[in-house]
Amino acid sequence: MSLLPTPERLALLPRCRTLCDELLSFTDVSKHNYEFVSKAVKALYVGCEALANLESSENHTDGIGTCPVCGNTNLAHGYPGRPPYNYCVPCMKPFLLARGQLGSLQGMGFSAI
Ligand SMILES: [Zn+2]
Repeated sequence: MSLLPTPERLALLPRCRTLCDELLSFTDVSKHNYEFVSKAVKALYVGCEALANLESSENHTDGIGTCPVCGNTNLAHGYPGRPPYNYCVPCMKPFLLARGQLGSLQGMGFSAI
């Protein structure tokens, strides 16, 4: 998502909202960690919004070149023999922090998105 042009990222935002709502629906309100998880899911969506609103007209989903938002040159990630998984870590930071909270033992214990 971080390497798409802004209009394409913004078009993904409603889907992100749906997925975040689904995550909340999986959370048991009677559990002690409900407040932590609900805050983390909300932070995840805020991170998605921040990411979607970064200004860029270029598509670098091929992992080649530099991030048009921050200039980062390390865009290609993944493992040999598998499909590329390209993204810009600095631009994904607000999203990744929230995802890390959800994946923690205090959160839901898995990677959310
Ligand atoms: Zn970037």
